[in-house]
Amino acid sequence: MTKSWQSLAIVLGLTLSSSMVSANSQHKFQETKRSRYATVKFTDYKSGMLKLQELEVDVAGVDIKNKLADIFVTTEQLNKLQDLKFNIVSEKSEKDFKAVDEEYKSPSEIETILKSWEKSHPEIAKLHVIGQSSEGRNIYALKISDNVSVRETEESALLFNSMHHAREVMSPEVSLDIIETLLSKYSSDLKIQNYVDSNEIWVVPMLNVDGNAKVWNGDNMWRKNTNYGHGVDINRNYPYLWSSCKGSSGWTWSSTYRGPEAGSEPETKALMNLVKNIRPVFDISYHAYSEIVIYPMGCKGKRTHTKEVVEGIGKEIGSLVNYGPGTAWELLYSVDGSDIDWMYNAYQVIPYVLEVNSRSQGFQPSYSQWRDKTVKRNRPAWMHLLDKMGGSGVRGILDETFPTPENYQIAVKKADGTTLQNYKVNPDGTYHIILNEGSYEFILQKGRDQISTKSLILEGVRKNLQF
Ligand SMILES: [Zn+2]
Repeated sequence: MTKSWQSLAIVLGLTLSSSMVSANSQHKFQETKRSRYATVKFTDYKSGMLKLQELEVDVAGVDIKNKLADIFVTTEQLNKLQDLKFNIVSEKSEKDFKAVDEEYKSPSEIETILKSWEKSHPEIAKLHVIGQSSEGRNIYALKISDNVSVRETEESALLFNSMHHAREVMSPEVSLDIIETLLSKYSSDLKIQNYVDSNEIWVVPMLNVDGNAKVWNGDNMWRKNTNYGHGVDINRNYPYLWSSCKGSSGWTWSSTYRGPEAGSEPETKALMNLVKNIRPVFDISYHAYSEIVIYPMGCKGKRTHTKEVVEGIGKEIGSLVNYGPGTAWELLYSVDGSDIDWMYNAYQVIPYVLEVNSRSQGFQPSYSQWRDKTVKRNRPAWMHLLDKMGGSGVRGILDETFPTPENYQIAVKKADGTTLQNYKVNPDGTYHIILNEGSYEFILQKGRDQISTKSLILEGVRKNLQF
């Protein structure tokens, strides 16, 4: 055999055997439920995590420093891991799990709480239905701002959202705490009043309403939505680089099943539509657990083209709450079809995932013991983003002399002439560009035509940029 034939045979052999394994596995896994909860200790964290992902293992959370991962698997998967000489350091079965603490919120409790906040603070809180799940539940967003019923073009938006994943019951608590802090302290705390009066703050406390209802129906390790019966991981369903880097699964039984097509799910569509309409400057998507801050991009080796800003602020957040910062592929494994990658690439949002709680606390820690501690610990992170809205950067609006503002771009150049970013002007004419301190040139462009150039020195405070 020639060398090329040999390598072809090897490739074919590998492909053949791995697809046979997958076909067998799918058959088995469809019959048997994931019911074993175990902890794996790695000698090499990175390659161990990669192997778990290849084996379609549901990773619940990690402790990177101690090279540990909690996994939720079928008996067949656990046996396979033992055959492969994975070091399983502890194991419990599903019957050892306590039921979810009753004080965590169900979809209907979230609805009641949001309606009562809107009723008690009508001047600064307005409830919006942003979509409906496949089981027909409303998905809510609460807008918090002065003159809350109108869009004020002199203010920019931020987004905080929770519960892409059903079992992560602490995540809505963080969103509810953001709402409660802003509304209850508005009239007594000048800093809070300033946050509310100068921004449009949008909070989605529970995106995956159907999945969460399933958690309350006794399936407390459920992660996906419930669409088609088998459900979809809605945080693998967003259209940017969907299904592109083995960062999701094509098997319907997998906990990271990406869905039949990009953006197919009602929850994904609801959040996409909200982002399209409000054009937030920043986003935090709350998840659990692992005490990490994740910034885009999710596919191995990829980073944002404005990483000095995106990763810089991510690290600041991390140090404020003592969470480890990094991309998903640095901290966990490759992820494709996530909300943060899509937001950054579609609408130049600066987005983060915060995985609250540690390995020892897990998905559903005692409410009385951990709820208040967790939300308090997370306050400096979201407040930091609100501070950054008035921090280093530029803001402005194209007036009526510029029709169809969305056809304009602002090229941001450093003093040495290198282009940092081509910022797309929002359809309402607004732009809000977060930048590190320094000297910049801003060139307003329409297609290839340069319309106007402005130079500014930024020293930590937002400046007005008007063309
Ligand atoms: Zn999650």
